[in-house]
Amino acid sequence: MPEGPEIRLAADKVARVLVDQPVVEVALGLAPLKRFEKRLTGRRVTAVDTRGKAMLTRFDNGLTLYSHNQLYGRWFTMRRPKLPDTGRQLRVALHTPSHSALLYSASDIEVLSEHGVRRHPFLNRIGPDILDATLTADEIIERLTSRSFRNRALGSLYLDQAFLAGNGNYLRSEILWAARLNPSAKPTQLNETALRRLAKQTLSISRRSYRTRGVTAPPKQAKERKALGMSYEQYRFQVYGREGLDCYECAAPIERRTMGSRNLFLCRVCQASSGRTR
Ligand SMILES: [Zn+2]
Repeated sequence: MPEGPEIRLAADKVARVLVDQPVVEVALGLAPLKRFEKRLTGRRVTAVDTRGKAMLTRFDNGLTLYSHNQLYGRWFTMRRPKLPDTGRQLRVALHTPSHSALLYSASDIEVLSEHGVRRHPFLNRIGPDILDATLTADEIIERLTSRSFRNRALGSLYLDQAFLAGNGNYLRSEILWAARLNPSAKPTQLNETALRRLAKQTLSISRRSYRTRGVTAPPKQAKERKALGMSYEQYRFQVYGREGLDCYECAAPIERRTMGSRNLFLCRVCQASSGRTR
């Protein structure tokens, strides 16, 4: 499933063709949404926001198109009248005079009023967005040490959208490796230094991934690996997907484990700490 940085990049792409443009033609593929086609036609898009893995396309009449891509949904933007060459189901088509923003395959799509956005069950359940520019390390520490989260294993917490929205599977492995923390450790076991290190890495790795289109390795290291002829998939991560390869820090082999029914990658040596001593 795409994670926060990928959703935000898709939102930026959609925003580039829609924001401040009149939407002159609207087609909504799901039957219950047909009735909104008329109400959105001729309106302008004011913003394309994300909340975790949900995208909110806001119109100037107060309506919001809510979409969650789950595993399969995919946005395309094209210059009109071109359409992508795909066998996928078209769910949303928003056409400006010059461009089209098209959502294929997603099924979790709604048109909401402002009130509907405020009471939406998913939006109400999720935590602050991991890419929210106003989110601070202190707030993350506060969440880590709160009653709801402090007794959860980090490996499970770092997939939970109620903890931080937009977090996901590759970010989980990369953040815990960078913070030198064992996925089985719980926030309640971490000392002040470890908590702060984790909070800082949470912010810096997710923001870096957004800036660099999915590269979580520090820029200098990514550049060196690229120069050695490594592919994007090979150079982008420090630990994710690197089972059996040497840890970049200590040369021990990277291990794969299943946690929360998803693959987690870790270095048993670097991440031996449960945070009490380091
Ligand atoms: Zn290591």
